[in-house]
Amino acid sequence: MTAPVPADVLSRLKAVLGPDGWSQDPDRLAPKLVEWRDRWFGSTPLLLLPRTVEEVSAVVGVCAESRTPITPQGGNTGLVAGQIPQGEVLLSLERLRRIRDVETFDDVITVEAGVPLAVVHEAAAAAGRRFPLSLASEGTATVGGLISTNAGGTAVLRYGPMRDLVLGLEAVLPNGEVFHGLKRLRKDNTGYDLKQLLIGAEGTLGVITAASLKLFPVLASRAVAFVGVESPRAAVDLLKHAKEASGGAVETFEIIARLGIDLALRHIPDTREPLEGPHPWYVLIEIAHAEPGASEAALERLLAAAFDKGLVCDAAIAQSGAQAKMFWKIREEQSAAQKPEGKGWKHDVSVPISKVARFIDEASTAIQRFAPGCRVLAFGHVGDGNIHFNVLQPEGGDGAAFDAQREAAARVVHDITASFDGSISAEHGLGAMKTDEALRYKSSAEVEALRAVRGALDPHRIMNPRVLF
Ligand SMILES: Cc1cc2nc3c(=O)[nH]c(=O)nc-3n(C[C@H](O)[C@H](O)[C@H](O)COP(=O)(O)OP(=O)(O)OC[C@H]3O[C@@H](n4cnc5c(N)ncnc54)[C@H](O)[C@@H]3O)c2cc1C
Repeated sequence: MTAPVPADVLSRLKAVLGPDGWSQDPDRLAPKLVEWRDRWFGSTPLLLLPRTVEEVSAVVGVCAESRTPITPQGGNTGLVAGQIPQGEVLLSLERLRRIRDVETFDDVITVEAGVPLAVVHEAAAAAGRRFPLSLASEGTATVGGLISTNAGGTAVLRYGPMRDLVLGLEAVLPNGEVFHGLKRLRKDNTGYDLKQLLIGAEGTLGVITAASLKLFPVLASRAVAFVGVESPRAAVDLLKHAKEASGGAVETFEIIARLGIDLALRHIPDTREPLEGPHPWYVLIEIAHAEPGASEAALERLLAAAFDKGLVCDAAIAQSGAQAKMFWKIREEQSAAQKPEGKGWKHDVSVPISKVARFIDEASTAIQRFAPGCRVLAFGHVGDGNIHFNVLQPEGGDGAAFDAQREAAARVVHDITASFDGSISAEHGLGAMKTDEALRYKSSAEVEALRAVRGALDPHRIMNPRVLF
């Protein structure tokens, strides 16, 4: 827990933002002090609600001078507790919500940090363009949070994570100075890239206030299929086949274990069995092309060839927008479908795509040996080698006893991940939750270099002090 913030510092921060620029109202604060799954609870002496980059700069300046720790927060959808303050001042970006500019010649949209991702999608579409990053939390997750966690989602396979989609940033550095880096250059080779350091920094190197993001053409045709497969090996072989056969048109390739379908049918309204018979594993595949009508025919050809190769047990191509939505719902509601099932150990890991199948087999065997009766629910972005390797408590079992084994279970899964040259956090970041664990797998040379960078920019460690190295 962070040391109490002195009353005179709180008064100075309030004075900078004026009477409606802050809050200490418990009802206003409450939703910002608990994370989505009710796993982490926090506290703060003061919620700061700046409206402009100048106001962010002024409050960070006061904090720098008084060495007062700050936790930045966007949409509060982070899954590793980085946005939940433990006594720090809470700096919300919720009022920095302007779309500053959409420039279709440069294919760039410039937006403020508090804009939710879904609003970026709408603004891009209104200009006849597309911003491809997509994830289940997009109605709430903000541009600042997505950049700070280098978010991934379902279109990384074709467009990359947030790191690949940012052209420029505006940010307030830990000393309160503004970094005016809202460039829209596709090439800028002038030494160290401060923007890239801030991406994925989880609020430890400054507060992002705006970003220039890459836009893409709207693809005229799109087709989505639900496919039943025998095993993760078959899924990975199907991915390889789909990438080759489609010439790079695969946008999404997601795997779901059968248990994930059962739980979606049990807990998520308006979902139906996607295929006739049950299958051990499923794949959601979406492809997109510029030519109208091209995708459905291409997906049909691709799946027919996959049947011939014995990679697929059954498949259904969505015949309507409603059916495509239902397929997507089963995938996007996987986390929500697991919530009512009690406690779960969640691991957001990545391994090279070629090793995904072996990883799932090995990790499943090891975790079932570690906790007999547990329910393995692996799902996620297999096209990126990113598996959400979730393990649910035994049905009707003791949730508290299961929860108590969380750390030891993570060690089992993460050691296997490391042995496959993988990462223990593929897309959610480290936050306050996984930093110690990550230190086990990083070399001292890397950690020392990273700490030196942080120390140079933030010598008093005021920015998100509980997060990262
Ligand atoms: C249902 C669900 C599905 C999800 N699916 C995915 C997925 O597919 N892929 C994925 O990558 N993530 C996923 N997430 C996780 C989450 O949505 C992302 O981590 C997202 O990027 C967080 O954005 P946010 O605005 O909510 O940030 P917050 O949760 O508010 O903050 C996240 C981190 O960023 C820092 N931060 C926030 N804003 C700023 C800022 N302006 N400047 C500096 N630091 C800042 C915070 O201090 C914190 O460390 C999912 C979450 C949920 C609940």
